[in-house]
Amino acid sequence: MALHPILAAMRQDPLAYLATELQTLRDQGFYRKLRVLDEEQKAHTSIDRRSVINLSSNNYLGLTTHPKLRERALEATRTLGVGSGSVRTIAGTMDVHMQLERKLAEFKRTEAAVVFQSGFAANAGTVAAILGRDDAIISDELNHASIIDGARLSRATIKVFPHRDAAAARRVLEELPPTQRKLIISDGVFSMDGDLGALPALCDLAEEFDCIMMVDDAHASGVFGQHGRGTVDHFGLHGRVDVQVGTLSKALGVLGGYVAGSRSLIDFLYHRARPFLFSTSHPPAVAASCLAAVEVLESEPGLMNRLWENTRFFKSGLAALGFDTGASESPITPVIVGEASLAMSLSDRLFEKGVFAQGIGFPTVPRGRARVRTIVTATHTRPELEFALDCFKDAGTELGVI
Ligand code: PMP
Repeated sequence: MALHPILAAMRQDPLAYLATELQTLRDQGFYRKLRVLDEEQKAHTSIDRRSVINLSSNNYLGLTTHPKLRERALEATRTLGVGSGSVRTIAGTMDVHMQLERKLAEFKRTEAAVVFQSGFAANAGTVAAILGRDDAIISDELNHASIIDGARLSRATIKVFPHRDAAAARRVLEELPPTQRKLIISDGVFSMDGDLGALPALCDLAEEFDCIMMVDDAHASGVFGQHGRGTVDHFGLHGRVDVQVGTLSKALGVLGGYVAGSRSLIDFLYHRARPFLFSTSHPPAVAASCLAAVEVLESEPGLMNRLWENTRFFKSGLAALGFDTGASESPITPVIVGEASLAMSLSDRLFEKGVFAQGIGFPTVPRGRARVRTIVTATHTRPELEFALDCFKDAGTELGVI
């Protein structure tokens, strides 16, 4: 029953502090309204009623609208319904979930794989399951939030080393008790800078100091390695990384995350990873279209080639215009401008001109390193990328960035 108006006025809003926090975000230029797509997720689309070249998605290979994936999702919906109806460990494991896990294990060249609802759930659920209070996690400072959350949930001691600095990671390891269980963890591709983790050096350390080695390949699946097998394949590290995480939500175009590794790792996660145990599994359409996505990676290598051609073209175009594109080695190319307000202005100016490239500031990136982040896809055409470069040139000149 609604409160009497006098009582309602008397009752203080216990969430009033949120409005204050939001005002602070507004004052600092961090407040963002959600951009809404009017059409499909694709390279040239309509967002907030404006036709734009989309440089903000993780749809590296254009699979969000691939006909094979779409068809398999529809077929799975027709034959299996729209929901799985349960968590995996009770009644929510369908044959299509098992087929996908077998396919991913074969693709990643590991004994087994387990699929989670998202890459976030895969990272957080795995780290929290395999580590405990007495253990230590040695983590690159720019690792993804899901790794950080998993580490916090595990209650292990968290030791952060400076970005890509294996020598610093060694110093951390030397100070930890030799008998303590340790996990070294790095992103394969860092999502805000587009550079690669120091994986070969970290694998050496893992072997020298008897650590578990874990890589989060969210942005590398479908982008690096043979047929998009990821950075472990790219660096020739098969057999040296104990826990490989990937996502099905970026280059694979659908939704989900997975862990690939030994049979015992996967069986353990079936029993102890909390998102696997306590959250409903994917609808059959999701599992079926993910399966089709892996098949497309294997059968259409031209997509990855186009992604890399576009990446080289766009990255060199931005650098030639005089933008600071950082140390990116992947299709993620940041345009670093410094202050968050300038990054947001550049993003807004680009949007007015017909390019969607999101501005990103603290806390997602360090203070003073705010940027507009761009990601090209295999499906951008050359004229679309040329148009985008022209817009960057005009907006960058207008705002004094170049
Ligand atoms: N790891 C990294 C490095 C990521 O960038 C992301 C997505 N932002 C994730 C994990 C989580 O993946 P998902 O979106 O599938 O939850």
